[in-house]
Amino acid sequence: MSLYVYSTLSRCKQPFHKRPGETVTMYVCGPTVYKPSHIGHMVGPVIFDTVKRYLSWLGYRVTWVVNITDVDDKLIERARELGTTVGALAREMTQDYFRCLQALNVTGIDHFPRATEYVPFMVEIIQQLEAQGYAYRADGDVYFDISRDPDYGKLCHRDAEQMAAGARLEINPKKRNPGDFALWKAARPDEPPEVRFDSPFGPGRPGWHIECSAMSLRLLGAPIDIHGGGLDLQFPHHENELAQSECYTGTEFVKIWMHNGLLKLRDKDGHEAKMAGSLGNVLNVVDALRHLSGDALRFFILKTHYRTPIDLGIWDWHNPATPLPQGLVEARKAHENFVRFAERVRAVLGIPFDQLPAPQRADEARSLTHPEHQAAFQRFREYMDDDFNTGGAVGVLFELVHHLNRLADQGHLDDAATADTALLQTFREGVVLVRELANILGLTFQGLTTSWSGDHHLVAQLLQLLIELRGQLRDTAKTAPKEAPLRTSLFQLADRIRARLHELGIALEDRPTGTTWRIIH
Ligand SMILES: [Zn+2]
Repeated sequence: MSLYVYSTLSRCKQPFHKRPGETVTMYVCGPTVYKPSHIGHMVGPVIFDTVKRYLSWLGYRVTWVVNITDVDDKLIERARELGTTVGALAREMTQDYFRCLQALNVTGIDHFPRATEYVPFMVEIIQQLEAQGYAYRADGDVYFDISRDPDYGKLCHRDAEQMAAGARLEINPKKRNPGDFALWKAARPDEPPEVRFDSPFGPGRPGWHIECSAMSLRLLGAPIDIHGGGLDLQFPHHENELAQSECYTGTEFVKIWMHNGLLKLRDKDGHEAKMAGSLGNVLNVVDALRHLSGDALRFFILKTHYRTPIDLGIWDWHNPATPLPQGLVEARKAHENFVRFAERVRAVLGIPFDQLPAPQRADEARSLTHPEHQAAFQRFREYMDDDFNTGGAVGVLFELVHHLNRLADQGHLDDAATADTALLQTFREGVVLVRELANILGLTFQGLTTSWSGDHHLVAQLLQLLIELRGQLRDTAKTAPKEAPLRTSLFQLADRIRARLHELGIALEDRPTGTTWRIIH
């Protein structure tokens, strides 16, 4: 079996160019952190987290970078509206983004570079582009001259005339060609000093496209194996990123360009609608998670093939009785099958589903005794090998769960006294397989409520408070001088919180996105 991946550049499914055991680099364009994340912001992270999980399971070593755009027009404007600083707003919204990723079990991101930390390298790239004749200065700005790059337009497969037609909407007399784009934007007097950086071109800040070129080249080098992002980023963002990166390095920038489909929504009359602040129908992740679990939301995103639009269905968003679009309500209902299955597994086998040990790596020699399990395993791999068809893979999981439920009924497995031991063995094999495949998709089978007794919401909030306090202790300790006795005691205090929680059956896990907790017994 071999993996095929569709690339926007070649416009075909191509055999994956590396072998298991090798390192794979992946870069996905991240958010501009000026507002809380809405559910559309989670589509890319969930898809590429699943891509990484599958590649890792196959034996690849994947390094994944998602950038944070923390300097931008929208950020400056929003900070002004709120009467806060760009820095403070960006920090707060980055935390919101991290919390959303945690809730959807997106755990694979290795680096979150912030644009403001890479400005000197961006300046270096722009200088070189200028020296090579690809860029020119105009009134404190620096632009990329698309007419100097014969390859410009190769990603989106548009010709110069089509691109110029789009660019003409925004007339800028400083540009040589309508399609030229800003590499550097001169500082404006009405902007706060915190977004002003010194450069050989004068004070200003980088354009959005150059940020991604700098962060991806610095952290991953060229060529990047997989570059991902939403379909809306294909043009102009990725086209521009590609042009400036290849002109700068003189080598291929990206092996595979993957673009995911966007969310689609209809209003109560069935007409297609945009999700927009002005319409009042932006569904933030934090609000959605009041009505369905993070796992159900992840399931919703994965049940469609990533290259097609994800249909949220009809939504009467002004009606408080319908807090979710129809598509999410249906996904929550379907996901209940998984939640009930996990509860049954716990009752029959005595182990919580998400703690079942299951293989972490593909094993060619592995054989499953039950033919239905073997066939499901085979089909799952075929779907995933075919350009990460998670929709098909989720379908296999459904069938497998259905089959195991029937098996449990047949063998009276819910009652230990009458359980058929041979069928129990088969059931166990199937459950381990479900766990293995669910883990590849990042699904935990957790519903909105857990088996935790008492007020779950309050407990979650209290734990969040403890996690925050522990984080602050550790941050303060890190900045204290090395020999200071205070430093040691702060670390000890932070460790004590973790140890005491562990005794109470709660494990804390530190990840790049922050600390999460889970119940261990
Ligand atoms: Zn980008």
